[in-house]
Amino acid sequence: MTSPLDGPLALLLRPPFGWVLATIWGALWGSFFNVCIYRLGLYESVVRPRSRCPACGTPIAGFDNVPILSWLILRGRCRHCRAKISLRYPLVEALSAGLAAAVYARFVLGRPDDPVVLLAHFFAYFAFAGALLVLSGIDLDHKLLPDRITMPGIPIALVAGILLGDLPPLELLIGAASGYAIVAITAELAYLALGREGMGYGDAKLLALIGALLGWRGVLVTFFGAPFIGLIVILPLFTRRKQRLLGVEIPYGPFLCAAALGYLYFGQYLPPPFTFRP
Ligand SMILES: [Zn+2]
Repeated sequence: MTSPLDGPLALLLRPPFGWVLATIWGALWGSFFNVCIYRLGLYESVVRPRSRCPACGTPIAGFDNVPILSWLILRGRCRHCRAKISLRYPLVEALSAGLAAAVYARFVLGRPDDPVVLLAHFFAYFAFAGALLVLSGIDLDHKLLPDRITMPGIPIALVAGILLGDLPPLELLIGAASGYAIVAITAELAYLALGREGMGYGDAKLLALIGALLGWRGVLVTFFGAPFIGLIVILPLFTRRKQRLLGVEIPYGPFLCAAALGYLYFGQYLPPPFTFRP
């Protein structure tokens, strides 16, 4: 009898197939994430109608919808009206492919576990990374983090986290609660001190979602790591284009997401008690 560790599924999870499949999987979902970013920010359905060129309204054919490649072949223009298609579409697809490859490297590659367990880790953590990518995109566009993603995301992440078993259920529960509380308290204090809103309750629900999968240690690292990522990104922009950026409201969600993904991928290198070693 062959063990599941030698079966066809295990073979597909090993290099080079594993790398290729994970990257293609990520790029395909990246196409859908583009639709989510564009439509959920406008409170539209992500299922219907089919994707159309925003300039001429022609439905986009399947062969013109291949992630990254179609944009390159058409040189960033609509096949029919030659209107420019934003560079953001292939960028989100490439980013999604990169996130999937990183999840593969972190949670599947070189692990001797049952292939079904490895696949479950890949799907769950990639879905989490994809949700953060979509939320970041919407926050950058509209300065909001829709409840339609964060509210169902919190219980889904909690159940997924408990089933994966990488962290004790209690740590995940405390993670969700503390994620919400730490942002809500900071937001109220900032409002009292500054008289204006900084972080909002969208950020609180986002950090609750992060804590539901990464636990309270992940919440602390994300909450205190995000401002540093923010500084690294914003300082160069600020010194170069001071005039244009003054008074511009900067969304905080993408920095929380970046810090959470940093913890997901590199948390194993942190010292205790913050080490994330699933
Ligand atoms: Zn067109």
